[in-house]
Amino acid sequence: MLPQQPEDRLARLRGPASPEPYTARKITALTANPACARRAVLDAAGVDKALLATRIGFEPRFGQSPFALTRGQAFETLVAWGGYAELVSLLRTELAVPVTEAAVADLTEVAGNSAPAVRARETQRLLERIAAGDEDRLILGHPMLTLDVAGRTAFLEPDALTHRIGGRFYAVEIRSFPAIDGQADPARTAEAVKQAAVHVIALRQAFHRAGLPPEAVADEFLLICPKDFSNRPYGRLLDLRQELDAVEFQLGRLRRAADLTETLPADASFDLAEDSAGSPVRDAGELDASVGALEAAYSPSCLSFCEMSRYCRQEAETAGEPARLGSGVRNDLPGIGSTRTALGLIDGTVEPEPEQAEIAELLRTAARLRDLRGGGAA
Ligand code: SF4
Repeated sequence: MLPQQPEDRLARLRGPASPEPYTARKITALTANPACARRAVLDAAGVDKALLATRIGFEPRFGQSPFALTRGQAFETLVAWGGYAELVSLLRTELAVPVTEAAVADLTEVAGNSAPAVRARETQRLLERIAAGDEDRLILGHPMLTLDVAGRTAFLEPDALTHRIGGRFYAVEIRSFPAIDGQADPARTAEAVKQAAVHVIALRQAFHRAGLPPEAVADEFLLICPKDFSNRPYGRLLDLRQELDAVEFQLGRLRRAADLTETLPADASFDLAEDSAGSPVRDAGELDASVGALEAAYSPSCLSFCEMSRYCRQEAETAGEPARLGSGVRNDLPGIGSTRTALGLIDGTVEPEPEQAEIAELLRTAARLRDLRGGGAA
């Protein structure tokens, strides 16, 4: 029998469901917590994390509402309408680009085929034509890019790539949150910046393969969102330099997802399929045990970006992990796996291991000072 390939294991863990694709949002979440093997494996296997969390009793409490998704699609359709007429107009009026018209290659599908690999090949072919000096006024709509993420190929899709402007090309991100008096919601803008950074990194790799200088992709991107309370598009160039460095560094830190599956028991599974009677083929207990077998690295920030966060928070609370109180507490308690242990070291009910002697002494000193302060105030 042939040895099992790591990719087979990831597919087997997911079961018969189609894999959930990587997206820039998923990649920014991964790079926000590169130490988390749990998320790395679930994403690489293409598991539907929201459904998994729901099946094990921890339904996620965030995500875009269907209304917001529909509004976002409608706004993007408006910007792309008429050969990206609104985008060309924004480039000219808002950003002082002296262009009155441009051709558009819509890469949403290629001759009726929307398979990511086919679209990625066509995107690459067009970039090679641009590199050869052809297609100087060509906007790419929904180009398909590839990026290695934790040893797996992710297919990524920025909303558009402008033609060459002053020697540079600009990634375009279209969002449906409004810019009121030129100011958009800071948290949503920050998320758009991170996702644009992922796209620009993938674009630069595609440029390199096409023989174009990677730095020809600008380290600014064009964010387009509705202006004030209307549906009129508003555009602004945003700087990406800091985020590009951060995302690139964190991508380099991700461990290969296939290697991380080696610690899983042979019968582990994240199969969310249902049988012909509509019952899950794996019960909640089996799924829970498999999720629990993957090492997690919970911190309170997980609550803002990960579908598994309510499950991981409860797990961290049950174990008394210092990190559940934030990275500050975790860093203050090096080598101590539980806040209960820390309290035991302070009151003397836990004997420190040799490597905990120093931190135990520091904790007791801190507790004495705290008591003294409390006494002084009384
Ligand atoms: S919530 Fe859990 S799975 Fe998600 S990143 Fe945090 S620790 Fe990892």
